[in-house]
Amino acid sequence: MAIFLEEKSECPVCGRKTLESSFTDLNIPYFSEIYLVRFRCSSCGYKVSDFLSTRYGKPIRCTYKVKNEKELTARVIRATTGTIKIPELGTTIEPGPASEAYVTNVEGVISRILEVAEIAREWAETEEQKRNSDIAIEKIKKAKTGEMPFTLILEDPFGNSMIVAKNQSEVKIKELTVEELQDLRTGGLMFFTPSDSNESTQED
Ligand SMILES: [Zn+2]
Repeated sequence: MAIFLEEKSECPVCGRKTLESSFTDLNIPYFSEIYLVRFRCSSCGYKVSDFLSTRYGKPIRCTYKVKNEKELTARVIRATTGTIKIPELGTTIEPGPASEAYVTNVEGVISRILEVAEIAREWAETEEQKRNSDIAIEKIKKAKTGEMPFTLILEDPFGNSMIVAKNQSEVKIKELTVEELQDLRTGGLMFFTPSDSNESTQED
């Protein structure tokens, strides 16, 4: 069920005080602290959504080892500020201006990477680029079927992203150091500073 905040805030696009916000509990077992937050301006139609975790609100890194097929079903909650890294595939998905918040599973993340790799293969110009692309695609396909073990890392400077596995103790959650945080791009929305998120939950 969505909870609407009574207080309207200033719209970042038109500047009027007509921005409505709502919170929806994602109903994820053991993680009721994760909400889908939507903003909508009734004046200009501006819309945006993201995830908000009231549990962390701090820079975190989740690390999950995918050893076989079973682990591909773990859920990945990626807020617009989340960075996904898979070292074994040499892949990093950073937040960009058009990045979107989504809930998928590990297999869904690999599918997105495969799509990008296949586009890169089509654009390859030299024989060497094509060969390298083929090798990369081969690896990604093996990861997608659970034949190749890999590590999924999800970092978020606001702690709004999370990996949720059947056995949650296999997801290692660590707070990021200042140095690690400097390397992280935030991109996406900047609505959710830790102090803002605390205020919002109190209003609920
Ligand atoms: Zn507006």
